[in-house]
Amino acid sequence: MKEIALYIHIPFCDHKCIYCDFYSITNYTNESNYLKAISQEINHYGNLNSEDKKVISVFFGGGTPSFMSPEYIGTILNELMRYFHFAYDIEITLETNPGTVDKKKLIQFRNIGINRLSVGIQSFIEEELKFLTRIHDADTARRTIIEAKEAGFDNINLDLIFNLPKQSKENWLYNLDEAMKLPITHISAYSLILEAGTILNKMVLDGKVEMQDEDYDAELYEITIKYLEGKGFRQYEVSNFALPGFECVHNNAYWGSKDYIGFGTSAHSYLNSKRWWNYSSLNLYIEAMNKKGIGVAGSELISMEQQLEEYVMLSLRSSGISLSELEKRFGGEWFNKNEILLNQLVNSNYLRKDAGIVKLTASGYAICDEILKNFD
Ligand code: SF4
Repeated sequence: MKEIALYIHIPFCDHKCIYCDFYSITNYTNESNYLKAISQEINHYGNLNSEDKKVISVFFGGGTPSFMSPEYIGTILNELMRYFHFAYDIEITLETNPGTVDKKKLIQFRNIGINRLSVGIQSFIEEELKFLTRIHDADTARRTIIEAKEAGFDNINLDLIFNLPKQSKENWLYNLDEAMKLPITHISAYSLILEAGTILNKMVLDGKVEMQDEDYDAELYEITIKYLEGKGFRQYEVSNFALPGFECVHNNAYWGSKDYIGFGTSAHSYLNSKRWWNYSSLNLYIEAMNKKGIGVAGSELISMEQQLEEYVMLSLRSSGISLSELEKRFGGEWFNKNEILLNQLVNSNYLRKDAGIVKLTASGYAICDEILKNFD
């Protein structure tokens, strides 16, 4: 059976954070219509594609899925289970924001089958949380993780953001130290990115906020890698670190070029060399579901050349390029064209070759995008 991952986008949020460019809305009036549309979409793809597939991961992302009631999330999970075959060791993740859950609600999420939480902490420093316009404070962040563990979650990711304006190295290390005091198995550490169309972008353009430079960003990134590896968190992708055995199955499905189906607004899907994406508008999505039975806004067929490019990019950023897998899927041409460069990068300690797998080293991760640009 072919392995597949499923993603469900829950777009509702309390407010819009200044740096956020995900599709999210603060108006909840269409909540129940959205649930109906998602159920209809599950029914559509379930009937088309489920028999020969085994679901290895379900990921509720957003938006703020933890804002919804456990019944709401449970209804979606039940619909998925009606149409898809779930692996016995399936990973089911709920993105969770501190300030939206208490212990009782966490227990209810655990009881409906959620077995992994990804908690958007971002920082343990009050001024940084205020700057990011998060709704929680540092104590609520700590309490959420502790209560999640008490509620029975043994697989907890924590998201942090570094290189905030004026963030000192000491402050960033403080955030990492605080994270280490909590019962987590995984950390996603992202550099603050200025995305077009965000409130933060406007603040920078208006001269109200100054971003730090790229060299400082690279320094903080290298500090992060060394720090987390020293604590036993193995880097398995540019921004992701896990204790052994706790790498995110869902992330690995994306980076391993496996098939996935996304449900809901702005969700992307990739199946049998075709990619499609849904409307990034709740009204347009619901209208399309009502009229056509699918919420697709656009699609493209991925050529072999694009598939090769994506395979190299995604695997190098994560578990490494398996040369035998590469040859099996795309032939030997790419390796022949890039062999000299690969050897140079190994000699300069940006890459290492291990049992036929070409992987980035810690210094290689820091210049990953540059490396990718130079391949033929
Ligand atoms: S809570 Fe998350 S999805 Fe919602 S606005 Fe903030 S960053 Fe975006």
